[in-house]
Amino acid sequence: MPGLFQQIQAGKLWDFHGGIHPPGRKEQTNQKPIAVLPIPDRLYLPLRQHIGVAGQLLVKVGERVLKGQQLTGADNSMAVPIHAPTSGTVLSITPHTSPHPSALPELTLVLEPDGLDEWRQREPLNFLTCDNLTLLSRIQDSGIAGMGGAGFPTHIKAGLTQPVDYLIINAVECEPYISADDLLMQEAATTIVKGIDILCRLLNPKAVLIGIEDDKPIAAAAMMAACSQREHYYVRVVPTKYPSGGEKQLIQLLTNKEVPNGRRPADIGIVMQNVGTAFAIAQAVLDDHPLLSRIVTVAGDTLNQPQNVLALLGTPVSALLDACGFQSQPQQRVIMGGPMMGFTLPDLSVPVVKTTNCVLAPTAQELPAASTEMDCIRCSACADACPASLLPQQLLWYSKAKDSDKLNEYNLADCIECGACAYVCPSEIPLVQYYRVAKADIREQQREALKAEQAKARFEARNARLEQEKQERQQRNQQLAAARQQQQLASGANTAVADALARIKAKQAQAAPADERNKEQILAERELKKQQARDYQQQKAQQQATEPPSGQPEPTPAATNNTDSKAAAVAAAIARAQAKKAAQATEQHATKQQVMPAPNTEKINEALAPAEADPRKAAIAAAIARAKAKQQAQTENETSAPPASAGAVNKPTAASDAAVAAEDPRKAAVAAALARAKAKKQASAEATEQTAPVATEAVIADQAETVVADAVVKEDPRKAAIAAAIARAKARKQADSENS
Ligand code: SF4
Ligand code: SF4
Repeated sequence: MPGLFQQIQAGKLWDFHGGIHPPGRKEQTNQKPIAVLPIPDRLYLPLRQHIGVAGQLLVKVGERVLKGQQLTGADNSMAVPIHAPTSGTVLSITPHTSPHPSALPELTLVLEPDGLDEWRQREPLNFLTCDNLTLLSRIQDSGIAGMGGAGFPTHIKAGLTQPVDYLIINAVECEPYISADDLLMQEAATTIVKGIDILCRLLNPKAVLIGIEDDKPIAAAAMMAACSQREHYYVRVVPTKYPSGGEKQLIQLLTNKEVPNGRRPADIGIVMQNVGTAFAIAQAVLDDHPLLSRIVTVAGDTLNQPQNVLALLGTPVSALLDACGFQSQPQQRVIMGGPMMGFTLPDLSVPVVKTTNCVLAPTAQELPAASTEMDCIRCSACADACPASLLPQQLLWYSKAKDSDKLNEYNLADCIECGACAYVCPSEIPLVQYYRVAKADIREQQREALKAEQAKARFEARNARLEQEKQERQQRNQQLAAARQQQQLASGANTAVADALARIKAKQAQAAPADERNKEQILAERELKKQQARDYQQQKAQQQATEPPSGQPEPTPAATNNTDSKAAAVAAAIARAQAKKAAQATEQHATKQQVMPAPNTEKINEALAPAEADPRKAAIAAAIARAKAKQQAQTENETSAPPASAGAVNKPTAASDAAVAAEDPRKAAVAAALARAKAKKQASAEATEQTAPVATEAVIADQAETVVADAVVKEDPRKAAIAAAIARAKARKQADSENS
């Protein structure tokens, strides 16, 4: 049995699953020559007219451009530039209705032709002497994209590096009404073959297969004649069946090879180009004529002169229709593309682009509008017609449910949107429209997923970079430390440091016993000082306790037990006062009856009782006691002893006051104030002698107040000054009253 290549050489053809046979209706246009349209008033040039990205703008509004001048750049491999179809001025660059089923606005350059049709400078290439890179650059710079309808950048397919067995030229043109490629082959077969030559130079295939449907006998004959000099070029006439022009379907027809799901024809060694694309390549390389125009079939019963026209890219559809005698009807539909795969235009300002092969303006009878959609009856006619062996009814169900997973599972991506299923559907369900919407949704989801994936990858890459930098830093530090250590060892510095450390340690070891000795000595001295302080305090307390004059009684237990020096002094003063009082009382009872009542000892005791708790009160009480005792003694002296003995009487009190003052500066102040009051009082008593009245307890209280004030003011200089002033005023007042 001959091999595949032998079978192909022998002219064997195969078939594909499904397909339909709609009326061709090509006779409207395929019998007339191609008409050349006049240059329109405005050309609308979308910046992107292919599958890929738009190139960067190279011109500005108001700029004059020449025919063939590049308007956008080819700065990206997926970018295909656009060119000025004729000379003119750039009027604007604004969004305009796009020639797409979505009719979304696309950034469009509006050119006002100047009618001169002035060319830029052209540089034809000899493809036999050019390298592949130059040829590919010329193809890309000429703005060539697949002209069969897909619009894939031609330079990418022509620049494949993997081995290619078959180069297939698609000249099937299976869709009804369309005859653009037919007419092109009839009129420019030689140029087309030159374009195929250039592609063979780039791809070096084993064979070239040119597929033409059997309803184009003139075109097939022209192509056979043009290829007669090429040994490995094979023109194959295939039966008319829709959609034989589908990429996978034509490959199967001509080679019996099936492109696996999700794979490309290049993966099985096949590259397919449209016949119009081959023509454009030849023009670009051999004439430096970029893609500026294309042949468009303008058909439909509303046209007086349906025909194929050579239209500049950017020509509004309305200009095409006008050139063909368009007679609009109520609810007129104008379709871009054929009746099977085309879409209804939103308005007639939509321009001709690189992928536009047909504009159809049918009457309502010729091509009825879609009727009301009915429910699927599960007849499976769609599945029988599907050339991709899909299950259109299942795809419809999951498209309505927006179940992306199921749609992928049922290979929606393999749907070529041929419309064969919708054509046969008895329920008039616009199946292809559902599939287009579902595909757009899936593309959007994939774009979002890709974005999320890229963001995640960037995040992980950043974390990895930070971690790597951290580890490198640590490693660097460790290496530096090791290098420093080695350097020190090498220079001997380490030994010097070690010696220095040893000396310091030895010194510390020697100093340790001395420090211990010093500590013990300091502790002993501190303990000795504490003991001396305690002895001194004890001795002082004993001295205070035994200080009263001889013959007086021992201090009270409260005084002796009180360890506080202040309290002890107060107690001593109280004891002296009590002793003096007792002596005076005894003396008074023994000698004579006294006019003045004895001092109220109970009151004194009551006053003195809290003195143990409060040193200040104790001082006050002591002062009162001493004042009363003194007053009593003075009274007795006035009656029994000469005044000269008063000083002797006062001596013990003065001595005790001095002792108290020695104890506490505040008490010293109290004692001093008391002494001054006593002296003043004695002086006044001597001055008045027998005439002055005897001091009463009020005077004593005044003196006590003075004492208290003195005691208080010692704590505050300002209060001291006030107290001193009050004391002086009182003394002066008393003296005045005594004098008067
Ligand atoms: S449009 Fe898609 S599902 Fe319908 S017949 Fe064509 S390939 Fe099959
Ligand atoms: S042809 Fe229409 S009615 Fe029949 S199974 Fe397909 S979608 Fe349903």
